[in-house]
Amino acid sequence: MDKTHTTGDLKLVRKLNKSIVFNFIKDHGPVSRAEIAKQTSLNKATVSSLVEELIHENFVREIGTGKSSGGRRPVLLLFNGDAGSVIGVDLGVHYISILLTNLNCEVLWSKETAISPELTPDEIIDTLVSLIQQAVQLAPQTRHGILGIGVGVPGIVDYKNGSVLLAPNLNWRRTPLKRILEEHTKLPVYLDNEANMAALGEKMFGAGNGYDHMAYISSGIGIGVGLILNDELYRGAVGYAGEMGHMTIERNGLKCPCGNRGCWEMYASEKAFYMRMKEDYRLSDVSRTSFYDYVNEANRGNDRVIANLNETGEYLGIGVANIVNTFNPNLVVIGNTLAAGGKWIFNPIEKTLATRALHFSTEHVKVVRSQLGDRACAIGSVSSILQNLFAVSDRPSPLP
Ligand SMILES: [Zn+2]
Repeated sequence: MDKTHTTGDLKLVRKLNKSIVFNFIKDHGPVSRAEIAKQTSLNKATVSSLVEELIHENFVREIGTGKSSGGRRPVLLLFNGDAGSVIGVDLGVHYISILLTNLNCEVLWSKETAISPELTPDEIIDTLVSLIQQAVQLAPQTRHGILGIGVGVPGIVDYKNGSVLLAPNLNWRRTPLKRILEEHTKLPVYLDNEANMAALGEKMFGAGNGYDHMAYISSGIGIGVGLILNDELYRGAVGYAGEMGHMTIERNGLKCPCGNRGCWEMYASEKAFYMRMKEDYRLSDVSRTSFYDYVNEANRGNDRVIANLNETGEYLGIGVANIVNTFNPNLVVIGNTLAAGGKWIFNPIEKTLATRALHFSTEHVKVVRSQLGDRACAIGSVSSILQNLFAVSDRPSPLP
């Protein structure tokens, strides 16, 4: 092994050890140096020197003394969530939702603005840039400033190059959003599909915390799935994994805007529910009434609405059964609008799962409602920046 290689390896080991100490303090603080050394099996001198670095960088602070186990009372350490801030954006079909948070994902400021899909990409981007600029101005003065901007987009994203390849509901094609936003803000931007972002958010701060194998199903106008497999977001070869809204569930089914027939989202989404209501009531625009109003209507005992919600839930359950058979997750999180359907949606999902999926797999899986609700994507966008900061790996991170 040549000398540069050895030096590189030592640097890498130190960086990994620093991530381990940093994450231990974040997850288990307040803790003492001795406790960190004991629990991480790193030696005390290494822990002390890494802690000094983290204190110097303002990521960790000392907060008084703890109980003595004989001898001097140990100084306790805590992660400093106020060492920097992060901006998270949920770019929806009809809205832009933006959050400014600290490093604990505590929301410091938030705003939601309605947008019309008739706006051109340039007009939507102008609105987005102006919202981000407001967040930048309101961000507190901190040691590390704004670490980055995460943006979740309803479409197919080339996350490596930060380009929105196709967002059919926004009418976007090959939009280099990362480059545009970085030029305007001079901050690092990370772009991903909204279901992937929401899956990350639920994993770090919501229902998926502590689960290594999770499917997040975003059922709104369309359906997207974010997969956490072996504790990591699964992207597939190029990054397009999770487009399960377009898996075929009816051979000669309804025509989908993607070009295929019988796609899952034509039967199990908010859009599918409105189509059922429209057929039933022969109304021209049933989607003027919000999904939440329909759920209230069901709660008041409207049989037609209940039947249509149940049928939508049953179709959602068919896809959930396919996902459970394929990936053997221990958690399925239902998010976006349909998650508000309560028992009218969740009971048929459970019933369909029990009858259609292999019982070996269903024994180990829970189906729950998103904990982060309509903030799942924006919090996930924040998480996409934070996970680099907290990553125990040699990937680039803001940690020096
Ligand atoms: Zn389709």
